[in-house]
Amino acid sequence: MRYVSTRGGSEPVSAERAVINGLAPDGGLYVPESFPELSPGAMRDAMKYADRARIVMAPYFQGFDGMRDAVEAAYHGGRFDGPEVAPVTVAGGACYLELWHGPTCAFKDMALQVLPHLFKMSRKMTGQSGDICILTATSGDTGKAALEAFRDIPGIRVICFYPHGGVSETQRLQMVTQEGANLLVSAVRGNFDDAQSGVKKLFDDTDLKDRAALAGVSFSSANSINWGRLAPQIAYYVSAYAQMCAMGKIKPGDRLNFCVPTGNFGNILAGWIAGQMGLPLGRLICASNANNVLTDLIARGRYDRRRELKLTISPSMDILLSSNWERCLYLLSGGDSELVNGCMSSLREEGVYDLPDKVKGRLSEDFYGGCCGDSETKATIRSVFEKEGALLDPHTAVARAVYDGYVHRTGDDTPTVIVSTANAYKFCGAVLEALTGKERPDSAELAEELQRLTGISCPVALMGLSQKPVLHETVAEPGEMRRVVERFIKI
Ligand SMILES: *Cc1c(COP(=O)(O)O)cnc(C)c1O
Repeated sequence: MRYVSTRGGSEPVSAERAVINGLAPDGGLYVPESFPELSPGAMRDAMKYADRARIVMAPYFQGFDGMRDAVEAAYHGGRFDGPEVAPVTVAGGACYLELWHGPTCAFKDMALQVLPHLFKMSRKMTGQSGDICILTATSGDTGKAALEAFRDIPGIRVICFYPHGGVSETQRLQMVTQEGANLLVSAVRGNFDDAQSGVKKLFDDTDLKDRAALAGVSFSSANSINWGRLAPQIAYYVSAYAQMCAMGKIKPGDRLNFCVPTGNFGNILAGWIAGQMGLPLGRLICASNANNVLTDLIARGRYDRRRELKLTISPSMDILLSSNWERCLYLLSGGDSELVNGCMSSLREEGVYDLPDKVKGRLSEDFYGGCCGDSETKATIRSVFEKEGALLDPHTAVARAVYDGYVHRTGDDTPTVIVSTANAYKFCGAVLEALTGKERPDSAELAEELQRLTGISCPVALMGLSQKPVLHETVAEPGEMRRVVERFIKI
């Protein structure tokens, strides 16, 4: 399998090159040249999570010997809290795909636990010597998952930038207490988009790259712009489908909807790709919070980022520039990189662009967009807990509310899986407030209170965070991010 850039200005590359590069040299994102067909067995048969993941991923990573061990270590090596890895659960008639059973309690672990293995194999295959320094911007969950995944891996360093004041207290503590000599965490004054575009600027900084290269260091990315982050996510859509068949909720071949709480568009795009590989999908329901750029995009065919980014109780979706949308735009337009370039430059210069009709049509065939503000999110957390006994985190609650609205509006009764992206204890403050109606400052200590109130236990990984020593105290201006990198890699 070869990978092409969405901007059409770079040569096609191998999978190992795509993983090492992260972003294509022309600033585009790598997309596979074609989508391999899933075998019916992969969608239906009972099998271990790692085996299905390997079957789904193998055609994308030809020549990677070691995939079997990689997925085995990632998913069944004691990092996830049970052998199911990504179970589908049913509560009050709704089905949830729980993607938060990994070490950091959010869905980013599903891909990030595999990514170090993909890096290791890719380095060997490309003969890449020297160190890799992974630069990530995080809206809260990617950062911790990347730190945890790459901790103490020789030859790889990770720098993680998060928006100052823009993540939950538990998310912040998870990051700033992170141990590992090869890791650095820094807050950035600004919001997630500032952090993400700051990192993009670092990738484009040829002077920085050249000087790093002299010191034997090259940069890469663990954000979902990296194909190695996206590919492992396809597998859990296939796994959810097989579980729905096993539970008798659908028959093999039946269509299934997924409702996905969406920020950077990586998760939902992986679902769409599963559909391109032959998974029988109905609609992909794209759920946004008050930062509803994608809702407008799907409804009206106009991408318009000219608005203030709002801080919400679902911070991992506080995003106006959904980087993976670029991949979808490229694919829906039939690989029209000229169109992608045009759209991306109007977005950069004017903050807005309109989709051509053919893309708009295909987009609204495959996707439905809906959004939900904080008060509705809280009301959903409360009513779902009280009526159905499930404790949803704010991101999953956004998806649930949007799904209910979708059914109400369309009457679509296709079986649907709501993708549950985080454990509620990562967002104790917001969840407790939703349940009690009492406002209080977010603090990791609220976990005990939430346990008492709900009788649902807090994951071990999130307990005692406030007692751990803080190891990372840097707060940088966006303009200082380069200096942070230089200091860490000593150039
Ligand atoms: C990252 C994240 C999302 C958004 O996923 P994208 O792939 O960026 O669309 C949603 N919920 C949680 C909890 C997340 O961590």
